[in-house]
Amino acid sequence: MLSRSASLCETTKYQTWPARKYPIDKQFRNLLSSGGVSVKQLKEKMPMPTLHTGDIIQGVSVLSELDVNDLEPGKKHRFFFQGVQMGTGQHWYVPVVVAKGVRDGKRILMTTGVHGDELSSVETVRRIMEDLEPTQMAGTVLAVHDLSRPAREQMHRDWHTPQKGYSLINFNRVWPGDEIGKDAPTRHAGILWNHLFKNNVDLALDYHTSSTGGEFTMFIFADFRSPEIEQIARLFPSEQIKNDSGEKGSLEMAFVQAGIPAITIEIGAPRIFDHSKISMAVEGSMNVLRNYGIIDSPMGKTSEEVGTFVGDTFETIRSTTGGYLELLVDLRDRVTPGQQVALQRNSFGDIVAEYKVSVAGEVATIARDALSEPGSRIMQILYLQSPDS
Ligand SMILES: [Zn+2]
Repeated sequence: MLSRSASLCETTKYQTWPARKYPIDKQFRNLLSSGGVSVKQLKEKMPMPTLHTGDIIQGVSVLSELDVNDLEPGKKHRFFFQGVQMGTGQHWYVPVVVAKGVRDGKRILMTTGVHGDELSSVETVRRIMEDLEPTQMAGTVLAVHDLSRPAREQMHRDWHTPQKGYSLINFNRVWPGDEIGKDAPTRHAGILWNHLFKNNVDLALDYHTSSTGGEFTMFIFADFRSPEIEQIARLFPSEQIKNDSGEKGSLEMAFVQAGIPAITIEIGAPRIFDHSKISMAVEGSMNVLRNYGIIDSPMGKTSEEVGTFVGDTFETIRSTTGGYLELLVDLRDRVTPGQQVALQRNSFGDIVAEYKVSVAGEVATIARDALSEPGSRIMQILYLQSPDS
């Protein structure tokens, strides 16, 4: 059974603020009695108090519901959040660190590990959280790591599930999830969305890198239809920004559709700590915190100072045949229409394919695996299709 008392399972190390009372608003009570609102709708509007399951893992208290209002200000707090169960009935747990300022302010979410093989995101958020001093802060910063725990443990992009023999699920296509969905990743997303994110977040930064086998620049996906999202993206001294409307089911798009500004930040190569790009991501993130008055320090470099290249479309070049890749350009290189950018050879050394671009832009992603199957992505060129962007 879950404890619904915040005080029952407190440890002295990770003590929480006493749980608040949540009186039903008179307006809702009237609506409920008049049939103007359902109990389900009412529940969705009412924040739930922080719930400790009673479990302690490696000295850290386990939560199944978080309301950051319940946490003591001026401190950093750490928890495991209880995610979906595995087939054996045990849970996947998600590490959460909350820096809660002494003054009211924006609540910023930083997420890592939506994909398991992306590690520079972890170091970026660790450095940000280490730098924060809650006694000097307004608002709250939540860092949530290893969202896709099974993928993280395997250092693989996708969540592997035993369903249908063995299935791989992209955990960035299931948001906002569904607690009664048809597979564990969808349910896990639904649990995190409803009980950890939904009532605690005003702005979300989702940190990624390229998938294994390729590499990204320091890159941001942002939906410029929202001026606030464009402003957030431009606070980063990133190499490139793509203005686009997002991928259905991505964490970024789920937040944007819920009216919460969000961007996706790609920090170079997978599986490593890409320190030069991590520094750019940290600086941009701190600029976001400065912009919203969460921390008070001089603004660092932004896209304006570093001359970030902004586009709105990718030209994706894929292998037409099997063979070994020879890349004739690299990340950030400017390319022009008709320029040859790669070729492929067979095992005898014969050239079997040559690849040209048809647009003027910059190389944004590139294959690092030298062997390339037909259909594999060789590179993506970021360019500006719409002059209004
Ligand atoms: Zn990713």
